[in-house]
Amino acid sequence: MLTVEADAVRVEARLSAGEIECPDCGGVLAPWGWARGRVLRAEAGPVRVRPRRSRCVGCGGSHVLLPVFALVRRVDLADVVGAALVAKVSGAGARTIAEALGRPVETVRGWLRRFGRRAEHVRVYFTALLVEVGIDPVPPALAASSFAQAVSAMVGAWKSAVSRWPQIGEVSPWQAACAVSQGRLLSPSWP
Ligand SMILES: [Zn+2]
Repeated sequence: MLTVEADAVRVEARLSAGEIECPDCGGVLAPWGWARGRVLRAEAGPVRVRPRRSRCVGCGGSHVLLPVFALVRRVDLADVVGAALVAKVSGAGARTIAEALGRPVETVRGWLRRFGRRAEHVRVYFTALLVEVGIDPVPPALAASSFAQAVSAMVGAWKSAVSRWPQIGEVSPWQAACAVSQGRLLSPSWP
C-alpha cells in the first residue's frame, strides 16, 4: 500500500515513467493490474475508485496505489473523518456530527473513539513534523484535551508544510495527514 496523489491520470503517467518508488526498497514500481474497484463516500456522495496495483522491479513486492483522499480500510474519505474531528473539538457530540454528515452514529463514534485512543501519539508525531518542516513554525495553541491538541497539531503541521511548499495547499489538512500516515491515520498501529 502506498498513498499517491488524487489525480489518476498523473499517477498513471508517473507509474509508466518509472517515477514511483517502492516504499520497501526504493526500487521502481511498474504497473501490475488493478485492485478491486470500490465505492467510497465523500461528503457530497459516492466516489468510485479502482486503485492501481503495482509491482516493484527490485524486490518484487506488490503495492496498491491508494489515492490521497482515501483512508486504509475506510469507506469514508479523509475529509469526512476530518470534518467529524473538527466538529468534535468544537464541542459537538457524535449524534449531532452523524446527523450533519449523514452517517450512522456508530460509524462516527468509531472514528472518534479510535482517534481519541491514538490522540497522544498523533499529537507528538504531528508536532514534531510541524517543527521539522516549518520555516518559522508556530506551535499549536494549547487545547483542552489531547484529542483537540492532536487535531490542532495536524492542522499546524499542514500549515507549516504549506509555508515551505505552497503546492501542498492544494490538498486539505486531512489529505495531508492521510499522505504522511499512508492512509493509516485511524489504524491502531500508527504512528
Ligand atoms: Zn521494492
